[in-house]
This record gives sequence, C-alpha cells and structure tokens, in this order.
Amino acid sequence: MSLLGAAEIRELAAQLDLRPAKSLGQNFVHDGNVCRKIVRTADVVESDIALEIGPGLGSLTLALLEVAREVIAVEIDSRLAQQLPLTVAQHSDRSDALQVHNLDALQLQSLEKDPTVLVANLPYNVSVPVLLHLLETLPSLQRGVVMVQAEVADRLAAKPHSKEYGVPSVKAAWWADVTGAGSVSRTIFWPQPNVDSKLVAFTRRTPPGDEAMRKKVFMVIDLAFAQRRKMLRAALSSLFGSSAAAESALQSVGIDPTLRGEALDIQDFCTIAKCV
Ligand code: SAM
Repeated sequence: MSLLGAAEIRELAAQLDLRPAKSLGQNFVHDGNVCRKIVRTADVVESDIALEIGPGLGSLTLALLEVAREVIAVEIDSRLAQQLPLTVAQHSDRSDALQVHNLDALQLQSLEKDPTVLVANLPYNVSVPVLLHLLETLPSLQRGVVMVQAEVADRLAAKPHSKEYGVPSVKAAWWADVTGAGSVSRTIFWPQPNVDSKLVAFTRRTPPGDEAMRKKVFMVIDLAFAQRRKMLRAALSSLFGSSAAAESALQSVGIDPTLRGEALDIQDFCTIAKCV
C-alpha cells in the first residue's frame, strides 16, 4: 500500500481543481508517516471497524486500511467523497474494506456496521460537537484518537482547577476518559493552518447516568460555565429560582455554593443535577 505524500496531494488537488474550503476545515495531511503514527497511537487492530470523519483526500484512510478490518468514512464534501474510492483503488488492494458516506457527521444517526474505533483529523470548526455527537450516537465506539486544534485538545483533556477546564472537558468526561496524545507539526498540512494541532485519545467509560440524567447534567454544566467568574449560587440561580434557593440546594448535597464550575468534576455535576 502506498500512502499520500506531498506530490500525490498536489496532483489530486489539481485533478479535482480543489480550492480547500476554510469553512470546512480543509487542511490535508501530506505525510504518510504521521498518518501511520496516528493509527498506531489509536491501537487499531485487525478486528477493528474504524470510523473516519472527514477523510478528505484519503491520507489517513489509506493508513487505516493497512490495519483495520473495515473503514467507514464520512465526508461532507461530495467531490472528496466521490474521489475517495478511486484514490483507494489506485493505492491499495483494500477497496472492498472501505465504505464512504457523503454526509455531515453532525447528521449521522446510525450506520449499517458498528464502528469500534474513531480515528480522524477532525474539521477544526466543529471538532467538539462532532466528537460529542458520535459518542452519544454510536455506542459501539469504544475508543479513538482525533487530531484537533491544540487549544481544543487541551480543553478536551483538561481536569478540574485548570484554566483550560470547561464545557468540552466535562461533557467529554461524561462519555469517556480523555487524554492528550501528542503534538503534530503544522508543516504536515496543505494548506498550512495558522494554528497548531494535537492528538487526543479517548476510551469510553460507563456513563454516570441515563439519557434523562445526561440532559440535566449538560444543562447544569452549560449554566455553570456560561459566566466563568460567577460562583455556583449565582450561576445556577435561574435553575433553582433564586440565588438563595441555589445556595441551600447546593449545601444540601454538600457542594460549596461559593465554588465556580471549574472546581467541579463530572460526578459533582451529577450530584447537582440530581437535586434539580
Ligand atoms: N482526513 C484528511 C487528512 O487528514 O488529510 C482531511 C482532514 S481535514 C482537517 C477535515 C475534513 O473534514 C475535510 O475533508 C472536510 O471536507 C471534512 N468535513 C468538514 N466538515 C465536515 C462534517 N461536518 N462532516 C463530515 N466531514 C466534514
């Protein structure tokens, strides 16, 4: 199997008359070794059905096809979705193992096969909503590695009491254990983005409650971080009717009402949601 280097990426882009769309986060990787490293970092094995969001010109797809049993690729751009099977046929003998869906990952509701691992260089502007949507919609996804903007990676993997900790960190923690998995140089992309990238690894965990509970917990999280500097009793006043009511509810479950959202972990948010 041959992977895509700078020359192949240039050639494919010229053939498609492709002008990469910033609005779709179209920055394509032209370094096969980095793609192989991402697949290794994700611990993809022969029995895996890998899901890739935004395969673009196919750099990571080809690296995934070297290892995974099957690859399901979801691409919003119809030109790229149509080209992908042709590129894969030219570079590998594993075309049969690839399924391409031309759709917006945020609209994905189900797939014929159950993917086990997510490996993707996510479109930067929608990386957090896409990741949360997939964790919610596809329970078969057990683990994964995604490449995102460095700042977003730090937020996703942040723990309480850090300045990066916020809504993405806690919501992701509902579904999974999330950790940083290394940096990626901006020079491996065409076009080169203005921001650095990082890898984030996740492993699904048993969520701390059911779907009704999750909705409540996510509502509390959104309110607690809406104005970061507000203490919980003020941030949650609308939820409990008044600041005084919020204060006594928080005290009744052993949470200090003068804390801020950044001090609470996912279990604390569950404790608050239970008394709403
Ligand atoms: N995987 C390729 C690579 O590493 O070279 C391309 C990654 S590029 C950062 C992001 C890709 O996601 C683009 O191909 C873009 O068209 C696609 N994309 C953007 N928004 C999307 C969405 N909502 N659903 C599915 N694909 C999307």
